[in-house]
Amino acid sequence: MMGIQGCGKGTQAELLEQHFGWRHINIGNLFRSNIERQTELGKEASKYTEKGELVPDELVYEVIKDAIRKADKGLILDGFPRNLAQHEFLVENVKIDKVFLLDLDTETAIKRISSRRHCENCKRDYNLLYNKPKEKGVCDDCGGNLVQRKDDNEEAVALRIEKFYQETGKVIDLYRKQNKLISINADQGIQEIHRQILAELSC
Ligand code: AMP
Repeated sequence: MMGIQGCGKGTQAELLEQHFGWRHINIGNLFRSNIERQTELGKEASKYTEKGELVPDELVYEVIKDAIRKADKGLILDGFPRNLAQHEFLVENVKIDKVFLLDLDTETAIKRISSRRHCENCKRDYNLLYNKPKEKGVCDDCGGNLVQRKDDNEEAVALRIEKFYQETGKVIDLYRKQNKLISINADQGIQEIHRQILAELSC
Protein backbone atom coordinates (compact mmCIF):
# COMPACT_ATOMS: atom_id res chain seq x y z
CA MET A 1 0.00 0.00 0.00
CA MET A 2 1.77 3.13 -1.21
CA GLY A 3 1.11 6.84 -1.21
CA ILE A 4 2.03 10.19 0.25
CA GLN A 5 1.74 10.66 4.04
CA GLY A 6 -1.90 11.24 4.97
CA CYS A 7 -3.34 9.43 1.93
CA GLY A 8 -5.05 6.82 4.14
CA LYS A 9 -2.75 3.81 3.59
CA GLY A 10 -3.05 2.67 7.19
CA THR A 11 -6.83 2.98 7.27
CA GLN A 12 -7.24 0.97 4.07
CA ALA A 13 -4.69 -1.64 5.14
CA GLU A 14 -6.60 -2.14 8.39
CA LEU A 15 -9.88 -2.65 6.52
CA LEU A 16 -8.19 -5.26 4.32
CA GLU A 17 -6.75 -6.98 7.37
CA GLN A 18 -10.27 -7.24 8.84
CA HIS A 19 -11.71 -8.46 5.53
CA PHE A 20 -9.13 -11.07 4.53
CA GLY A 21 -7.22 -11.83 7.73
CA TRP A 22 -3.94 -10.79 6.12
CA ARG A 23 -1.42 -9.26 8.47
CA HIS A 24 -1.14 -5.47 8.26
CA ILE A 25 2.49 -4.45 8.69
CA ASN A 26 2.80 -0.75 9.43
CA ILE A 27 6.51 0.02 9.67
CA GLY A 28 5.96 3.46 11.24
CA ASN A 29 3.88 1.86 14.03
CA LEU A 30 6.51 -0.81 14.62
CA PHE A 31 9.09 1.94 15.10
CA ARG A 32 6.76 3.94 17.37
CA SER A 33 6.16 0.84 19.50
CA ASN A 34 9.93 0.27 19.83
CA ILE A 35 10.43 3.94 20.70
CA GLU A 36 7.74 3.78 23.41
CA ARG A 37 9.23 0.62 24.89
CA GLN A 38 12.67 2.31 24.71
CA THR A 39 14.31 -0.69 23.04
CA GLU A 40 17.80 -0.21 21.59
CA LEU A 41 16.26 -0.22 18.11
CA GLY A 42 13.68 2.37 19.21
CA LYS A 43 16.35 4.67 20.65
CA GLU A 44 18.29 4.56 17.40
CA ALA A 45 15.19 4.94 15.18
CA SER A 46 13.84 7.96 17.10
CA LYS A 47 16.88 10.01 15.98
CA TYR A 48 15.43 9.83 12.46
CA THR A 49 11.66 9.53 12.90
CA GLU A 50 11.38 12.71 14.99
CA LYS A 51 12.94 14.78 12.21
CA GLY A 52 10.91 13.11 9.46
CA GLU A 53 13.99 11.40 7.98
CA LEU A 54 13.97 7.84 6.75
CA VAL A 55 15.40 5.35 9.23
CA PRO A 56 18.55 3.58 7.85
CA ASP A 57 17.67 0.50 5.81
CA GLU A 58 19.48 -1.97 8.11
CA LEU A 59 17.21 -1.01 11.02
CA VAL A 60 14.14 -1.21 8.79
CA TYR A 61 15.11 -4.73 7.67
CA GLU A 62 15.47 -5.87 11.29
CA VAL A 63 11.89 -4.82 12.01
CA ILE A 64 10.43 -6.06 8.75
CA LYS A 65 12.10 -9.50 8.79
CA ASP A 66 10.52 -10.26 12.10
CA ALA A 67 7.08 -9.06 10.93
CA ILE A 68 7.25 -11.08 7.69
CA ARG A 69 8.18 -14.24 9.62
CA LYS A 70 5.00 -13.95 11.70
CA ALA A 71 2.68 -13.44 8.70
CA ASP A 72 1.56 -16.88 7.55
CA LYS A 73 -1.74 -15.87 5.88
CA GLY A 74 -0.34 -13.17 3.62
CA LEU A 75 0.54 -9.58 4.40
CA ILE A 76 -0.20 -5.99 3.53
CA LEU A 77 2.82 -3.75 3.68
CA ASP A 78 2.15 -0.15 4.64
CA GLY A 79 5.11 2.21 4.57
CA PHE A 80 7.49 -0.22 2.86
CA PRO A 81 9.36 -0.12 0.50
CA ARG A 82 10.23 3.57 0.54
CA ASN A 83 13.32 3.42 -1.64
CA LEU A 84 14.80 1.17 -4.34
CA ALA A 85 17.14 -0.69 -1.97
CA GLN A 86 14.15 -1.63 0.20
CA HIS A 87 12.33 -2.83 -2.90
CA GLU A 88 15.28 -5.16 -3.68
CA PHE A 89 15.15 -6.52 -0.14
CA LEU A 90 11.41 -7.07 -0.46
CA VAL A 91 11.54 -9.07 -3.68
CA GLU A 92 14.16 -11.34 -2.14
CA ASN A 93 11.85 -12.14 0.75
CA VAL A 94 8.24 -12.08 -0.45
CA LYS A 95 6.22 -12.36 -3.64
CA ILE A 96 4.44 -9.12 -4.47
CA ASP A 97 0.95 -9.70 -5.89
CA LYS A 98 -0.48 -6.20 -6.17
CA VAL A 99 0.65 -2.66 -5.43
CA PHE A 100 -1.93 0.00 -4.63
CA LEU A 101 -1.12 3.68 -4.91
CA LEU A 102 -3.51 5.89 -2.98
CA ASP A 103 -3.16 8.99 -5.05
CA LEU A 104 -3.51 12.35 -3.27
CA ASP A 105 -2.21 15.87 -3.98
CA THR A 106 0.29 17.42 -1.58
CA GLU A 107 -1.97 20.23 -0.38
CA THR A 108 -4.77 17.86 0.69
CA ALA A 109 -2.22 15.53 2.27
CA ILE A 110 -0.82 18.35 4.45
CA LYS A 111 -4.34 19.39 5.51
CA ARG A 112 -5.15 15.82 6.52
CA ILE A 113 -1.90 15.29 8.42
CA SER A 114 -2.49 18.39 10.54
CA SER A 115 -5.94 16.99 11.52
CA ARG A 116 -4.61 13.54 12.31
CA ARG A 117 -4.84 12.20 15.88
CA HIS A 118 -4.26 8.81 17.43
CA CYS A 119 -5.10 7.18 20.73
CA GLU A 120 -2.07 7.22 23.00
CA ASN A 121 -3.30 4.00 24.57
CA CYS A 122 -4.57 1.61 21.84
CA LYS A 123 -3.07 3.57 18.86
CA ARG A 124 -6.34 3.72 16.86
CA ASP A 125 -6.15 6.45 14.22
CA TYR A 126 -8.63 9.31 13.81
CA ASN A 127 -8.93 12.38 11.64
CA LEU A 128 -10.75 15.48 12.85
CA LEU A 129 -11.91 16.19 9.28
CA TYR A 130 -13.52 12.91 8.25
CA ASN A 131 -13.01 10.19 10.84
CA LYS A 132 -13.84 11.91 14.15
CA PRO A 133 -14.20 10.28 17.55
CA LYS A 134 -17.71 10.32 19.07
CA GLU A 135 -16.44 12.41 21.98
CA LYS A 136 -13.83 15.13 21.39
CA GLY A 137 -10.32 14.04 22.39
CA VAL A 138 -11.43 10.57 23.57
CA CYS A 139 -10.91 7.19 21.86
CA ASP A 140 -14.18 5.41 20.93
CA ASP A 141 -12.63 2.01 21.63
CA CYS A 142 -10.73 2.36 24.89
CA GLY A 143 -11.43 5.87 26.26
CA GLY A 144 -7.75 6.82 25.90
CA ASN A 145 -6.55 10.36 25.13
CA LEU A 146 -6.24 11.39 21.49
CA VAL A 147 -2.93 13.05 20.70
CA GLN A 148 -0.98 14.29 17.68
CA ARG A 149 2.06 12.33 16.49
CA LYS A 150 5.37 13.93 17.44
CA ASP A 151 6.50 13.94 13.79
CA ASP A 152 3.30 15.55 12.50
CA ASN A 153 4.85 19.01 12.95
CA GLU A 154 5.37 21.31 9.96
CA GLU A 155 9.12 20.74 9.50
CA ALA A 156 9.06 16.95 9.80
CA VAL A 157 6.04 16.70 7.51
CA ALA A 158 7.78 18.81 4.84
CA LEU A 159 10.84 16.54 4.98
CA ARG A 160 8.75 13.34 4.80
CA ILE A 161 6.91 14.67 1.77
CA GLU A 162 10.20 15.60 0.08
CA LYS A 163 11.51 12.06 0.72
CA PHE A 164 8.29 10.62 -0.67
CA TYR A 165 8.74 12.39 -4.01
CA GLN A 166 12.53 11.87 -4.15
CA GLU A 167 12.88 8.27 -3.00
CA THR A 168 9.52 6.50 -2.93
CA GLY A 169 8.58 8.06 -6.26
CA LYS A 170 11.27 5.92 -7.94
CA VAL A 171 9.76 2.73 -6.49
CA ILE A 172 6.28 3.76 -7.63
CA ASP A 173 7.64 4.41 -11.15
CA LEU A 174 9.17 0.95 -11.17
CA TYR A 175 5.89 -0.77 -10.19
CA ARG A 176 4.11 1.30 -12.82
CA LYS A 177 6.58 0.08 -15.48
CA GLN A 178 6.12 -3.49 -14.27
CA ASN A 179 2.31 -3.09 -14.63
CA LYS A 180 1.85 -3.94 -10.96
CA LEU A 181 0.56 -0.54 -9.87
CA ILE A 182 -3.16 0.06 -9.28
CA SER A 183 -3.80 3.73 -8.75
CA ILE A 184 -6.85 4.76 -6.70
CA ASN A 185 -8.05 8.32 -6.14
CA ALA A 186 -7.52 8.82 -2.38
CA ASP A 187 -9.66 11.97 -2.28
CA GLN A 188 -12.85 9.96 -1.69
CA GLY A 189 -14.62 8.50 1.35
CA ILE A 190 -12.98 5.65 3.28
CA GLN A 191 -15.66 3.10 2.38
CA GLU A 192 -15.66 4.05 -1.32
CA ILE A 193 -11.88 3.59 -1.53
CA HIS A 194 -12.20 0.25 0.27
CA ARG A 195 -14.91 -0.83 -2.20
CA GLN A 196 -12.65 0.03 -5.16
CA ILE A 197 -9.71 -1.86 -3.67
CA LEU A 198 -11.88 -4.95 -3.08
CA ALA A 199 -13.13 -4.76 -6.66
CA GLU A 200 -9.51 -4.73 -7.91
CA LEU A 201 -8.60 -7.66 -5.67
CA SER A 202 -11.43 -9.86 -6.82
CA CYS A 203 -10.51 -9.69 -10.49
P1 AMP B 1 4.88 6.65 8.99
O1 AMP B 1 4.05 6.28 10.17
O2 AMP B 1 4.67 5.72 7.83
O3 AMP B 1 4.70 8.11 8.61
O4 AMP B 1 6.41 6.48 9.42
C1 AMP B 1 6.95 7.23 10.49
C2 AMP B 1 8.46 7.31 10.36
O5 AMP B 1 9.02 5.98 10.46
C3 AMP B 1 8.98 7.84 9.03
O6 AMP B 1 9.00 9.25 8.98
C4 AMP B 1 10.40 7.25 9.01
O7 AMP B 1 11.25 7.95 9.88
C5 AMP B 1 10.16 5.86 9.61
N1 AMP B 1 9.86 4.87 8.57
C6 AMP B 1 8.67 4.26 8.34
N2 AMP B 1 8.77 3.41 7.29
C7 AMP B 1 10.06 3.50 6.85
C8 AMP B 1 10.80 2.89 5.80
N3 AMP B 1 10.25 1.98 4.98
N4 AMP B 1 12.11 3.24 5.66
C9 AMP B 1 12.70 4.12 6.46
N5 AMP B 1 12.06 4.75 7.47
C10 AMP B 1 10.75 4.44 7.67
